[in-house]
Amino acid sequence: MSTSTVSVNDAVVAAPAQTCDADLAEHPSIFDLVPGYGPGASEGDVMPDPVVRPGQLPAAYQRMSDDELHARIRAAKETLGSRLVILGHFYQRDEVVQYADFVGDSFQLANAALTRPEAETIVFCGVHFMAETADILARPEQRVILPNLAAGCSMADMADEDSVETAWEQLMAAYADEHLTDADGREIASVVPVTYMNSSAALKAFCGRHGGIVCTSSNAATVLEWAFERGQRVLFFPDQHLGRNTAKAMGIPLEQMPMVNARKPGLGLSSEELAQARVLLWPGFCSVHKRFTVAQIDKARADHPGCKVIVHPESPMPVVDAADAAGSTDAIKKFVAASSPGDVIAIGTEINMVNRLAAQYPDRTIFCLDPVICPCSTMYRIHPGYLAWTLDGLVEGEVRNEIVVDDATAADAKVALERMLAALPKDA
Ligand code: SF4
Repeated sequence: MSTSTVSVNDAVVAAPAQTCDADLAEHPSIFDLVPGYGPGASEGDVMPDPVVRPGQLPAAYQRMSDDELHARIRAAKETLGSRLVILGHFYQRDEVVQYADFVGDSFQLANAALTRPEAETIVFCGVHFMAETADILARPEQRVILPNLAAGCSMADMADEDSVETAWEQLMAAYADEHLTDADGREIASVVPVTYMNSSAALKAFCGRHGGIVCTSSNAATVLEWAFERGQRVLFFPDQHLGRNTAKAMGIPLEQMPMVNARKPGLGLSSEELAQARVLLWPGFCSVHKRFTVAQIDKARADHPGCKVIVHPESPMPVVDAADAAGSTDAIKKFVAASSPGDVIAIGTEINMVNRLAAQYPDRTIFCLDPVICPCSTMYRIHPGYLAWTLDGLVEGEVRNEIVVDDATAADAKVALERMLAALPKDA
């Protein structure tokens, strides 16, 4: 596990005016009181009883010094030993990620947990949909904890099950008269649902029930090919940018990628648009990655002639088009690893990950395209205080903030996740 000496959170505290959200300078227990995303946003949520609401971190933990919190976390880890595995997402703050047994993206982390079958408890220092996925893939006797239930994902919450069901019903009605076959005469579907990993367990289950699949930012192209072998069109949710960028790279024209609006009759599309659609996009986005702009890329190149620019495909299409490369968090890591000392690399992804790469490669100039410090504000809600509180609970025999996906949802979601597992990324 790598530990970075660069801390975005130090920067946040030192210069709150330069952050994208002044609330980020507050203590997380205060920040949690700001309305946002969190528990209950995912329909499959089974709320713990009693529910500990955001902002209700016990007062004793709110008052503890950083030294005491870190001492408690270390002591609990020591006591729990191999019964505990802590997972830390690439975008997690350094004060928390330093305790992770594995650091990676959501899918790598869910798989990493499988390598520790002896662990009774998986503490997922990421966001809600990641903990749900870990619970679906974990062994039945393993339990998954999300230290702060307010750590949701704004993008995941942009597609709820009711809206997707409504859109699906409208699409099924619109295409009811189609009888499609592939080149070999086999029947294919009018629409195949594809959900990005960043979605609730309920939507993964929806895809499992309707012949669909889950994709990651690594294997989105393979997944779209899989879907087009089985259907005429794809309904892609929640991230419009990943869907558009991936389909465009496959040669699908923009006019065949209309955006659906589940609240409008006919999804807000004309019969002509519905007829020519190949990828029906959902209007979701990531609040971190939508901040990247072509002007930022132009400035990076003007300030650092010869610099290379890589962005995450959750960024808007003009940004992906203007960059030298686009790829998942793992692809960004590999891009930096393949660079040479002295290289200048501008990265369009979350600041904690960029700063960690900069610390890991001090002989290169690595910086975030966005000059404003804008961490994933939902993942930011996991603070050492929450980690200490949940780990202390385990030591005392109390499971706090367990994430449980019900059996029926988990079974359907697993079907879609297993299809995803078989769809290897192009560069694998
Ligand atoms: S970075 Fe964006 S997509 Fe990822 S967890 Fe945060 S809000 Fe969600």
